[in-house]
Amino acid sequence: MTPKQEQEPAEEEPREVSPGIVRLQLPVDMPGLGHVNAYAIGDGRGVTLVDPGVPGDRSWKALLARLADAGLSPADVHTILITHSHPDHFGGAHRLAEEVGAAIVTHGAWRTRLWPGDGRAAPCHHLAELPDIDPADVAPSNPWEDPLPWGGESMASGWRRRLAEAGPADRPQDWVPPEPDRGVADGDSLLLADREWICLYTPGHTLDHLCLYDPETGTLLSGDHVLPTITPHIAGIGSGRDPLSSYVASLDRVAGVGPVRVVLPAHGQPFADLAGRVAAIKRHHEERLDRVVRILEGLNRATVAELSHHLFRPDLWGPMAESEAYAHLEHLRLAGGVERRRRDDGLLEYSLATAERT
Ligand SMILES: [Zn+2]
Repeated sequence: MTPKQEQEPAEEEPREVSPGIVRLQLPVDMPGLGHVNAYAIGDGRGVTLVDPGVPGDRSWKALLARLADAGLSPADVHTILITHSHPDHFGGAHRLAEEVGAAIVTHGAWRTRLWPGDGRAAPCHHLAELPDIDPADVAPSNPWEDPLPWGGESMASGWRRRLAEAGPADRPQDWVPPEPDRGVADGDSLLLADREWICLYTPGHTLDHLCLYDPETGTLLSGDHVLPTITPHIAGIGSGRDPLSSYVASLDRVAGVGPVRVVLPAHGQPFADLAGRVAAIKRHHEERLDRVVRILEGLNRATVAELSHHLFRPDLWGPMAESEAYAHLEHLRLAGGVERRRRDDGLLEYSLATAERT
């Protein structure tokens, strides 16, 4: 099987991918991912660096080498723009901010709370005040710290356990989302490469996902929202009430933003056919929803883990597969097609709604 674009190892050569935008591919060793694209966007003061790689020495050394090959030094980086709060996107941000004082810009819903006792406010306290957030999407408590609704340890505790196993070269402190200096909102404009970019709030993959659009050159920085050959994970936890609906609305948001000449994704190669890619990803999720219904027809009732085992290959089983299965089940439940109940053992169990059964 030929590897997907997103799985290819990082290219060493920096490459100009759009006027004034140089791509620096950084190595990533995560399931399904071989690299992340950092983009250096130049202006009279230096560069804004978008998504500066994973935490750890390997990525940091690659970043220094790529910057040097592009004729830049870390000191040229005045701003770090992070598309969403996943470690393959914010990993180099702490170190850049510490060493050269670069300012960190994210969406206002940026998730900072995954670390015990760090004294920061839980996201639910400030999220409700953000212009982009639907109050119905704000959990009454911190969804990262709560036990998973379908059973099992919280996302945060699983995360901390993995971090505790990390060695010093991995810089465990860099796996905690950094504190942004500025949180933007949908429709805000940002000056990058001396051009006005429009901030597009695109929740779904995460609640804090941000894309940027430059109407002048028709460039869309798409983060993980729209990738060339893989469909981004839809997080059932911490992404609001119905993340799949949010995600599909966010696909329509970028598809309708204006003429797009080139999409610059966080993984994989630049591409032009945004409309075609958006249509294909929507089709994928419709097929997925149909499959969930068929699986429930066959099984009669299923827990989230059981359903995820029918939806995903065994090597993908685990919290992420369950989280995405949960997002699909909750989407169907909110639309009325599926019912759920809490079993005596505490697990959620889903079945087709009575009216749907024939
Ligand atoms: Zn990513």
